[in-house]
Amino acid sequence: MPGISEMSMDFSLADILAARQVIRGVADGTPFVPSPFMSAVCGQDFLLKLENMQPIGAFKLRGAYNAVMSLPEDAGGVTCCSTGNHGRGVAYAAAKRGIRAVICMSTLVPQAKVDGIKALGAEVMICGNSQDEALVESQRLVESDGLVDISPFDDARVIAGQGTIGFEMLEARPDLDTILVPLSGGGLAGGVALAAKSINPKVRIIGITMDRGASMHASIAAGHPVDVEEVPSLADSLGGGIGDDNMLSFPLCKAHLDDSVLVSEEDIRDAMQTLFFEDRIVAEGSSVVGLAAVLAGKLPKPDGPVGTIITGRNLNMDMFAKIIAGEDIQLGDVTVKGKRYGA
Ligand SMILES: *Cc1c(COP(=O)(O)O)cnc(C)c1O
Repeated sequence: MPGISEMSMDFSLADILAARQVIRGVADGTPFVPSPFMSAVCGQDFLLKLENMQPIGAFKLRGAYNAVMSLPEDAGGVTCCSTGNHGRGVAYAAAKRGIRAVICMSTLVPQAKVDGIKALGAEVMICGNSQDEALVESQRLVESDGLVDISPFDDARVIAGQGTIGFEMLEARPDLDTILVPLSGGGLAGGVALAAKSINPKVRIIGITMDRGASMHASIAAGHPVDVEEVPSLADSLGGGIGDDNMLSFPLCKAHLDDSVLVSEEDIRDAMQTLFFEDRIVAEGSSVVGLAAVLAGKLPKPDGPVGTIITGRNLNMDMFAKIIAGEDIQLGDVTVKGKRYGA
């Protein structure tokens, strides 16, 4: 018997190559551009993979489209739990296929994400205050309505779709030294690590998460899936657990991530401001954790070019306007103190 990481490795690498064909012309080929400001901070080229420019405003279309298009011909409909962006990807792909989609989300999901999903014609269920509760509902719908449940991160076709980002980054810049990947359930980091290391085994892959509710970080440290409490965060797309029975994304991240780093809500706020004022890019808190780690001095100086993935842009614009104006942000019972950029 091969070890689990070996098994998932063979399996997923072939899947990533197949996924490239499936998503071609729909969810691939996003720009990969240097940030002059961040390059000056790093002393190395610092490049942004602009997944915020996907038609659904987030990279999740890659995995969701690959998974939905790979369903058998007689599939009647799909469901999933989601922090918002996976659901939007599934809704987009289901609409293209002309099948039903029911997206289950918690009350922590921002209204902008809920609205985006409804606009694509999907049904939305708001269930409880955590991803775990949303997952219970999507699994119930499999029983009651015969829908196919597509996990946001622990699904081979989803991981394969996200992994195509790693191929695109290394093809454009085979000299990349480090890739900074926003990390939640680990479908993105697992897929990107596998793809990128297959082109350049020396590239370092670092997962980055907010320090409040970092389930993959805690799970890697413990050596097994760990439950953490899900709380409101500027990085709302990074919330939720990895699942007690995680089959793929946990072993992949455990085997292939070179490090896992945490950033604070203040670090995230600073990075959202930096990306907006220096590069004029509107991005979610979850998308800027790579910049946040560099700006907060939480990473060693790189030896070569650095790439990070700007994973999405689906945020409430009134909250974004407050962050840009330097106003306080209330997250549940936590206040992120306002600060004007450059002050
Ligand atoms: C889902 C998501 C992530 C994290 O991806 P995982 O595969 O769950 O680790 C990061 N950023 C955004 C914007 C997301 O929607």
